[in-house]
Amino acid sequence: MFKFENKNTLIPPKRLCKKCGKCCKELKCSNLSSSNLCLIYEKKDISCEMYPCMIWSDIPEGCGYKGWIFQQREFYKRKVRNSKERLISLKILLRCANIADKVKFENEINELNVFIKSFWKYGAKDW
Ligand code: SF4
Ligand code: SF4
Repeated sequence: MFKFENKNTLIPPKRLCKKCGKCCKELKCSNLSSSNLCLIYEKKDISCEMYPCMIWSDIPEGCGYKGWIFQQREFYKRKVRNSKERLISLKILLRCANIADKVKFENEINELNVFIKSFWKYGAKDW
């Protein structure tokens, strides 16, 4: 059966950060120096360390993570598209399935629907 992994939170590769400070400016963080460097870099919060781990959140224009975020989103969009295709096949198979297969197919349909709906708020309806 199709297996899912619903990982919306990932570890962003640090090398992509341009150190422009735009994300910190948007937050109006008082720890940002005039040269766009973090004054508490060694002690900064985990949320700063992990930014932008939520691949569906907005990032500032020109952020170095733009391409990475695009790639991660595409990965999940592809999974959703594949799930939609599998749903169509399952619905066809269901019409002529025996009782044992029917239960199996219905369970898979339910799992697929749950998976697809978990991306609804990010626009999965149109993917
Ligand atoms: S603590 Fe540092 S890294 Fe975090 S938002 Fe403020 S300036 Fe940016
Ligand atoms: S906006 Fe992006 S590139 Fe600029 S400092 Fe923040 S994470 Fe780094």
